Amino acid sequence: MVTLCSAARPLASLLRRHVLRRAWSPRIVPARRCNLLACSSKYVLSQIHPMWQEPLAIPGGDRQSPIDIAVRKSVFDSELKPLVYDYDPQTCQQIWNNGYSFLVEYDDTTDKSTLKGGPLQDTFRLCQFHFHWGESNAWGSEHTVDRRLFPAELHLVHWNADRYSLFEEAVMEDNGLAVIGVFLKVGKRHEGLQKLVDALPAIRHKDSVVEFTRFDPACLLPANTDDYWTYHGSLTTPPLTESVSWMVMKQHIEVSHDQLAVFRSLLFTSAEEDVQRSMVNNFRVQQSLCSRTVRSSFSPFLQEADADQHAH
Ligand SMILES: [Zn+2]
Repeated sequence: MVTLCSAARPLASLLRRHVLRRAWSPRIVPARRCNLLACSSKYVLSQIHPMWQEPLAIPGGDRQSPIDIAVRKSVFDSELKPLVYDYDPQTCQQIWNNGYSFLVEYDDTTDKSTLKGGPLQDTFRLCQFHFHWGESNAWGSEHTVDRRLFPAELHLVHWNADRYSLFEEAVMEDNGLAVIGVFLKVGKRHEGLQKLVDALPAIRHKDSVVEFTRFDPACLLPANTDDYWTYHGSLTTPPLTESVSWMVMKQHIEVSHDQLAVFRSLLFTSAEEDVQRSMVNNFRVQQSLCSRTVRSSFSPFLQEADADQHAH
């Protein structure tokens, strides 16, 4: 998504979150254990999320996201520098189930957690990260690479603090946002992610917010952040504004099937709703590249030659 938080946090939503944050108490209330078999009829997989069922005020532009990244059509740009990220785990504040994904939100009132370098001219502040995932491991990512789908995709959302004074302002403007995308594959358990996974049962329902602190988002980046694709695109949730410099990492991270299963145990629905819907398939359909170029910070051809040499 890049995201609802994002997507121009309406004032009402901000206020509601503020209230929820205040209402939240550190007292641990044991959740009723749900026997999935016994109550499975109450839980259905969502076909189409309500967000996409209503007519959208789509900007109708030709810079929409997500897209398929065709590796051989991407253009190597030797001017693309490595990304420079400097995240302060102390700025981590809370996790919020917004009814479409869960957002890990950061204090972005100062330049404590920032991203610069890469294709960026300015300094961008981290405001939140979230994921998109599928109901099975066969799909779930928003971007694809040569049509290859991944089970999930992480988005770290930053806004341009050099040019704008608020996220809400930056989200509507050109060069307002910078989003890092990281593909997730299923493999071994991700130790850094586990602290987050452990917190998710507390925000199972839509609109739940809990305090979540001292989480270093850098632990979710792949070992190699020098190799990435970049292009100009949009938010992947309403208002779909074309304000995003995307940086999609070439290297994926690995998480376990069990960790993704906890993502899938979240709900699109609030506790009051009669029919509960599993939070899965929360990705936008792919958009046309139109006349855009995807640039890469690395040369795929050089790397192929390297690989050949190693193979022989
Ligand atoms: Zn996203």
